[in-house]
Amino acid sequence: MKDSNKGFTLIELMIVVVILGILSAIAIPKFRDVSESAKLASCRSNLRTIAGALQLYLAEHNQYPPGNGWKKLNTISGYVHAGLVCPRTGIEYRYRIMGRERDTFSLRGWNANCWRNHGQFVDGVFEE
Ligand SMILES: [Zn+2]
Repeated sequence: MKDSNKGFTLIELMIVVVILGILSAIAIPKFRDVSESAKLASCRSNLRTIAGALQLYLAEHNQYPPGNGWKKLNTISGYVHAGLVCPRTGIEYRYRIMGRERDTFSLRGWNANCWRNHGQFVDGVFEE
């Protein structure tokens, strides 16, 4: 019965396949979580960068950028990269100058999925 020592039995192969299946079931969702949280952190970092750009604009001009409504980043292109987009949704960010004195701003990825999940600046304060 020396032949039984050659190769794997069907049972052994099945055990290996089952173990690989279990491992991939654990590893693949974990990888997705890491990828998602990295994009979320990157989006929040972008929002803080844009907020900083608006505050720098305010410091240099003594007022926020002119105009009402949600504005694209190219209106402050000297202060922040105009092509900045949410890394998860690929959607560009927009800001809005607010308040009777135009002394505050709101800022978000121009996409509900981004600003609900990744946070936004409201009245110049970051909200998760
Ligand atoms: Zn985002």
